[in-house]
Amino acid sequence: MVVLFGRAGYADQVKLKIVAINDFHGHLQSSESFRAGPQSPDVPVGGIDVLAGYVEYLKAQNPYNVVVSAGDLIGASPLVSGLYHDEGTIETMNRLGLEISAVGNHEFDKGRQELLRMQSGGCFTGDKNTCRGAEVGMAVPFGGAKFQYLAANVFDEASGKTIFPAYMIKTYNGVPVAFIGVTLEGTPVTVRPGGIAGLRFAGEASTINALVRQLRAQGIQSVVVLIHQGGWQEVTKGTVDINSCEGELQGTPIEAIVNQLDDAVELVISGHTHQAYVCQIANSAGRKVPVTSAASFGRLLTDIDVTVDTTTKKVTSVTAQNIVVDRSNTKITADAGIKGLMDRYAALAAPIASRVVGSITADITRTTSAGRESPLGHLIADAQLEATRDSGAVVAFTNSGGIRGDLAYSSGAADAGERKVTYGELFTIQPFQQNLVTITLTGTQLQTLLEEQFKGCALDFPPGVIPPRSDQILQVSEGFTYAWNPAGATCNKVDAGSIKVNGLIVGPTRKYRVTVSSYLAEGGDRLYEFTHGMERVDGAQDVDALAAYFAKHHSVSPSRLDRIKISPQPNPD
Ligand SMILES: [Zn+2]
Repeated sequence: MVVLFGRAGYADQVKLKIVAINDFHGHLQSSESFRAGPQSPDVPVGGIDVLAGYVEYLKAQNPYNVVVSAGDLIGASPLVSGLYHDEGTIETMNRLGLEISAVGNHEFDKGRQELLRMQSGGCFTGDKNTCRGAEVGMAVPFGGAKFQYLAANVFDEASGKTIFPAYMIKTYNGVPVAFIGVTLEGTPVTVRPGGIAGLRFAGEASTINALVRQLRAQGIQSVVVLIHQGGWQEVTKGTVDINSCEGELQGTPIEAIVNQLDDAVELVISGHTHQAYVCQIANSAGRKVPVTSAASFGRLLTDIDVTVDTTTKKVTSVTAQNIVVDRSNTKITADAGIKGLMDRYAALAAPIASRVVGSITADITRTTSAGRESPLGHLIADAQLEATRDSGAVVAFTNSGGIRGDLAYSSGAADAGERKVTYGELFTIQPFQQNLVTITLTGTQLQTLLEEQFKGCALDFPPGVIPPRSDQILQVSEGFTYAWNPAGATCNKVDAGSIKVNGLIVGPTRKYRVTVSSYLAEGGDRLYEFTHGMERVDGAQDVDALAAYFAKHHSVSPSRLDRIKISPQPNPD
C-alpha cells in the first residue's frame, strides 16, 4: 500500500489535488490583463500554453490529482479556435491533461450532434475548416476529447438516458471520489432551439441529490459537483478579490442550488457567470461547503486540496484558492508542445484573422442607453439589413446576448484618426457562425414580438414553457423605431402607435420582411413570434455580413441611440 504522507497519524488519510477551470471558451491565446484584487498589480493573463504550465506545476505537487472543468470549454470562441469548430481547444485540453468536464450551455451552441463529435471525433460536415490536423500536426480525422464530458441532467427524451455519463468515479489510494457534472436547467433559453430538439434539461439540485443516493448505495461517501451555473460577489466598489466571497452569493442561482444539496456533496466547482469567488455556502443540512469559480478564458484556475479519511472514505478537509494564470511569472514554464500546436493553429488562422476589413473613428461598444440600445447593436443590425436587402428586408433584429465583444478605438492600430478593424475582431464579436434568415411578419406580429422581449410576457409560448425572468431587448436596424414604458403592465409595455418602419406606423395586417439570425428564427431568447415567420430565405453568415458592411462603408462611426425610446411618463401631479 502506498502511504502518501509518512508522518505518524497521516497514513489513514489521502490527499487529492483538484485543478479546476471553467468557461474557457476557446481562448487558446490571450492579450488580456487582470487584477486579482484591489491591491494587486495588473498582469498579463491566460493563454493555454501558460495555463498548461500552471497545471503541470500544481500536479507535480501531488501524484493524486485531477484536472476538471465546469463547462463552456468551447463555444463563443475567438477565431483561432472557433473558425476550426473548436477542434484546437479539444486537442490542447487533451494535452493539458483535462480529465473531466461538465457540459455548459455553450457546448450546445452547434447542437447535440456537434457536441457528440467533440467527444468522439470525426469531421464537421460541409466546411473546409475542419480536420486540419495535417497542417497543425494532429491526427486526421479529428480525434475528439480524451477527457470525459458529463451531463447528469441532460436527457434524450426518446431513450430516457443522459447524452453523456452522469458521473465519473476516480479512486485515489483505494478511496473512491465521485464527480457529478451538470449544466444549468435554463440551458435551452440560451441556445438555438433546433440544436437541442429531443433533449430535456432537468433540475440541478434534484438531479444531483438523486445521484448521491445511488452513489452512497455503491459505498461512495465523497462527492464533488462540477456545475455550469454560478453566482457573483457583491461589488460595492472597485475590483473584488478573486479569493473572497463578498455577499456570500446571496440571491444568486448557485446559492439556491447549494442550499438544496445533500450533505454528501463536499465541494461545488461552479461557472457560467465568468466570476471569481471562493465561498462557503450552507447545504440542505445547514453545513457550509466550499463553492468555487475561476472567472473565464483561462485567466484563473482554482487550486483545491481535498483530504479524505481512508477508513470512513469521507472528506475531512477542503482548501481552495484561485490563482492568476500570470504570463509574466518566471517560475512557470509554458508547455512547449501545447504552445507549438496553438501557434500552428494561429498561423493557419492568421491570413483570415488579420485581414483589415475597414476602420472605426471612435469606440463602438455594447454599452446600452436607457432604451437598451447600443452603438454596436445598431452596427450589427444595420449590416444584417444591408446584407439582405435583396431578400426584401426592411428591418433587422439582433439579440444583445449574441454580441460577444466591443470595438474599442484604443485597442487597435490607428492611422490618421482611423483605427483599423480586422476580420478576427469581428469574429470575436459575432462568434456563433449563424446564417441570416429573412422572414415575413405582419405589423401585429411585430408588436407581439416587441412585447415578448420583456420579462414575464408569454403571448404565444408553446405549452409548458416558462417565460424568461429577465428582459431580452433586441437591437434594431436603422429605420425601425418604437417606444416602451418601463411602468407598463406585462405584455403591454410597447406603444403600438410608436412602432414605425422608415417613419411610417406599421399597419396591423401589413407584411414586413424581417432579417434575424438562425438562432432567433428558431425562437432563441424565447422570442417565439419569430418562429411564425413566413417566406423564409436563408442568407450569409452573420460575421460575413458585418465584414461586408465595413468593406462597403470603409470608415464607421458610432450611431445615435435614438431608435428605441422610453415613453414619456405621466406627470405624478
Ligand atoms: Zn455558460
